Amino acid sequence: MRHLPRVLIVEDESSIAELISVNLRHNGLSPIWAEDGESAQREIDAVLPDVILLDWMLPGQNGVVWARKWRSDPRTKSVPILMLTAKSEEHDKVSGLDAGADDYITKPFSTQELLARIRSVLRRRAPEQADDSVTIGQLSLDGATHRVTFAGNPLKLGPTEFKLLNFFMHHAERVHSRAQLLDKVWGDHVFIEERTVDVHVKRLREALGEAGAMVETVRGAGYRFSKSSSA
Ligand code: CA
Repeated sequence: MRHLPRVLIVEDESSIAELISVNLRHNGLSPIWAEDGESAQREIDAVLPDVILLDWMLPGQNGVVWARKWRSDPRTKSVPILMLTAKSEEHDKVSGLDAGADDYITKPFSTQELLARIRSVLRRRAPEQADDSVTIGQLSLDGATHRVTFAGNPLKLGPTEFKLLNFFMHHAERVHSRAQLLDKVWGDHVFIEERTVDVHVKRLREALGEAGAMVETVRGAGYRFSKSSSA
């Protein structure tokens, strides 16, 4: 049950916001519109978006001020920000990027260009959903085919357990708190309780069988995937 990537559009011109929304919706993305930074902040407080499209010129505080704010807030600091602006001068581009924007797009832009930029920042955001394969000990995971094998034997994992294992294997030997796992594997932790992580870790261990011991509980800290426990 993968969720459609949420794209928060912060844009005071309703015609532009509407045009972007329609295009995003037609391309498998879920747009949310906020007409200024204040309402965008309320949307962010409710549900964390996957990408923020941020207009430069907004009523009240401008986009650069908001980009800087969201970049310094632990909750939003890893959400990619794509700045939208009618300005094309080089110094504006630099101050947008200095404020923490990941990319920059100048109006008027084509839908294809906007979609390409959004997909690019989404890819950068989600290394744990990488399509490459990884092998630790006798356990192998293929991100492209979603196959997991232990000592050459295929294992059956649910979609969440697969994502969790994918993240663990790409970030092995490090301790991850439940909150970090929610952030990295589920993408948003607003409506999910931390004990949900424990439920899926338990299922993952069961699905891994002999290799389940590689998922270690680190008391008071979280979980670690370690090859030292490898069978
Ligand atoms: Ca504007």
